Amino acid sequence: MPSSVADHRLRASDERSSPSKATPLTGIHEGGCVCGATRYRTVGDPKRVSACSCRWCQKRTGSALGVSVYFEKHDVVFTRGNPRLYRIRSDAGRSIQTQFCSDCGTTVGWTLEFLPDYQGIAGGTFDPPTFWFRPERFVFARSKPDWLAIAQDIEMCQAMPD
Ligand SMILES: [Zn+2]
Ligand SMILES: [Zn+2]
Repeated sequence: MPSSVADHRLRASDERSSPSKATPLTGIHEGGCVCGATRYRTVGDPKRVSACSCRWCQKRTGSALGVSVYFEKHDVVFTRGNPRLYRIRSDAGRSIQTQFCSDCGTTVGWTLEFLPDYQGIAGGTFDPPTFWFRPERFVFARSKPDWLAIAQDIEMCQAMPD
């Protein structure tokens, strides 16, 4: 191949990845379930991050809150395993389909009826440094236990804001 053609291709691909987007793809992160049979990889920064004390998050985690990290669907790939699906109805009355490891039961992610282009990842399942993102808001604070204090800069919402 003449080198001028190769040079031209190089320049064209540089232009595609140059800074027209507000949020560039900054990195690859991986995570997975407790037993390791289900693994995923994410690309770039999440589109939305929230902490949530809805009853579903409390039930699925057995804890006081869940950490929901949302990516665009095409920025998440399941690299190992084939998560099982389970559909529930959220505290806001919408459908959530969870993705969990059929071996160990860890919920690693979910999809939401009202955000069909997004893939939710259970924040605590990322490999270290696990909490490389920061929630911008805390939703369903109405069911948060009163002994749990949240940082001042995180917006508190009693339910799910519109
Ligand atoms: Zn597992
Ligand atoms: Zn929740």
